[in-house]
Amino acid sequence: MPEAILTLNAGSSSIKFALFTFNHALSNIARGEIEGIGETPHFAIHGPHSELLLEKTWPHGETLSHEDLLSPVLEWVDHHLGDIKLAACGHRIVHGGDIFTAPTLLDDDALARLSTLDPLAPLHEPHNLAAVKAAMVLRPGLAQIGCFDTSFHKSMPAVATRFALPRNLRDQGVRRYGFHGLSYEYIAAQLRLAAPDIASGRVIAAHLGNGASACALRNGQSMDSSMGFTALDGLIMGTRTGALDPGVLLYLMQAHGMNADEITNIVYKKSGLLGISGISPDMRVLLASNAPEAAEAVESFTYAAAQHIAALVVPLGGLDGLVFTAGIGEHSPEIRAAICARLQWLGIAIDPLANAKNALVISKATSAVEIMVIPTNEEAMIARHCVTLLAQHAID
Ligand code: ADP
Repeated sequence: MPEAILTLNAGSSSIKFALFTFNHALSNIARGEIEGIGETPHFAIHGPHSELLLEKTWPHGETLSHEDLLSPVLEWVDHHLGDIKLAACGHRIVHGGDIFTAPTLLDDDALARLSTLDPLAPLHEPHNLAAVKAAMVLRPGLAQIGCFDTSFHKSMPAVATRFALPRNLRDQGVRRYGFHGLSYEYIAAQLRLAAPDIASGRVIAAHLGNGASACALRNGQSMDSSMGFTALDGLIMGTRTGALDPGVLLYLMQAHGMNADEITNIVYKKSGLLGISGISPDMRVLLASNAPEAAEAVESFTYAAAQHIAALVVPLGGLDGLVFTAGIGEHSPEIRAAICARLQWLGIAIDPLANAKNALVISKATSAVEIMVIPTNEEAMIARHCVTLLAQHAID
């Protein structure tokens, strides 16, 4: 008898979910998203062939809790599954800190410990945890499994995790962790299937979405990441700064009298592509715009991406493969070409025709580095972790 896994990825303005059945293999039977939380929440569920299965819009301005939002999702799931048992709800949780380095069954104690990490991921962690709490209330007894974006990076060597700060801060957990781990773990697995020779070598994966980072992989293991203590570091993102001289933060505090909340708002929500362009955090909008400010934002994005990719060649000592993934990485030939153009000195040569088609391999035969486009699937990775953890508990 097949069972099912529901995955939840809860953010500040949206909750993404996916439903999988598993017997011998996992099968994705539905995907959905609640968008516009805080404004006019709207939810839609699509089937495996993108067919619309259900749609609901709440009245504008209604204040809704995570329980209010998740309740119709879980009702639909129960109805849709019929006799199939929902075995677990798997949650994407951005920060596991030093405490949670593998997928974990969540209870009240685990939630209390995780909430101490809220300040390290203020844009994500509180929303991730609110969804877990809501699911616990709505479905008492259902296994809630936390899957952490930081866990995949536990293979990073100590030197990659170290800040040049006083040692006592390191002892208190002030170190580089790395994020987007569920995405990179999925990419590493897909790469093993699509190109095993490359997968066993030195690869940099670039996850270019609203959040953006790059990860150095050796034999499928994380060696370093452009993101550090928080998901602010590294590449320029939709609304986040990426790497920033810490002196800027001191200046904002001392010369502008800004407090932590004001600076948090600037560096997480008002910066990045939105900050530079003053137009939009959305790459599609910027690429379609004729405004010089939009072009500047795109230029800075590709410059920073190439810089961080180049820096990640150091821990690998060379490069065999470069993989693009996530919204921009999977769909924008223009951005991939601009980043690769800045990396030609590494022997990287992109094939314009394959790139225009978003093909799996987009490098020329003469390129020293295989360049690939691999769609990510964080939900599938969460579902795999849930199945593994449930099987382990069944054996224990
Ligand atoms: P998230 O990090 O929220 O999961 P996504 O991975 O969906 O985000 O990426 C969203 C980004 O991808 C947006 O900036 C969007 O404009 C960009 N994007 C999606 N499709 C394209 C496209 N065809 N060309 C350029 N950018 C795209």
